[in-house]
Amino acid sequence: MAPPLERSISQLILPGGKNIEFVLGDITDEQTDAIVNAANSALMPGAGVSGAIHGRGGPAIYEECRAILSRQGEIREGQAVMTRGGELPAPYVIHTVGPVWRGGGRDESAKLRSCYRNSIELADERGLGSIAFPAISTGVFGYPLEAAAEIAVKEAARSLEHSKQLSDVRFVLFDPLAFAVFVESARALAKAKSMAFKTYTAD
Ligand code: ADP
Repeated sequence: MAPPLERSISQLILPGGKNIEFVLGDITDEQTDAIVNAANSALMPGAGVSGAIHGRGGPAIYEECRAILSRQGEIREGQAVMTRGGELPAPYVIHTVGPVWRGGGRDESAKLRSCYRNSIELADERGLGSIAFPAISTGVFGYPLEAAAEIAVKEAARSLEHSKQLSDVRFVLFDPLAFAVFVESARALAKAKSMAFKTYTAD
């Protein structure tokens, strides 16, 4: 019998031993050094990932968000800022604002790439070793899943190659369809770039 999907881990191994993992789950359970919030420009706790992170992390996260906003104003699409993780298992949260999908002609792909690149660069600059991402923009913001997955996986691989401290990126997908689509993107990238790709079952 096939193992349950919840325990299936797919892994893309980059030259030099850094790696990108794909799991099905809830990002608020992750114990990586940082988890990424699919935020909005006002950093308001909303629905989806943001509601789950603020709900479980407690009010300290939003207080820090408000301090950031009063220092630098609204966060633009593609930017990333960092707070502590409050009561979450992860010590830090990186809040990045994904683009709202408006048909593809408003620079959405470049903005989505920036979310991944800026989040990884910020984590690396702060000396973190691991980071977990949700599928940014694919919920309320409406970005088509296949296109978003391809950008996410390619940009994570590219940014991770340049990182000094950060060695592990994890994609935590909330539903089986998103998980399958991200794993397919990773498999395609592995084939195109001759990288190792494997799937195994967690203990
Ligand atoms: P956006 O506004 O950027 O589209 P959403 O939070 O609406 O962000 O959704 C982004 C993705 O995150 C969606 O694919 C959604 O299914 C998924 N998601 C929602 N809750 C969680 C969670 N707790 N952990 C991981 N992924 C989640």
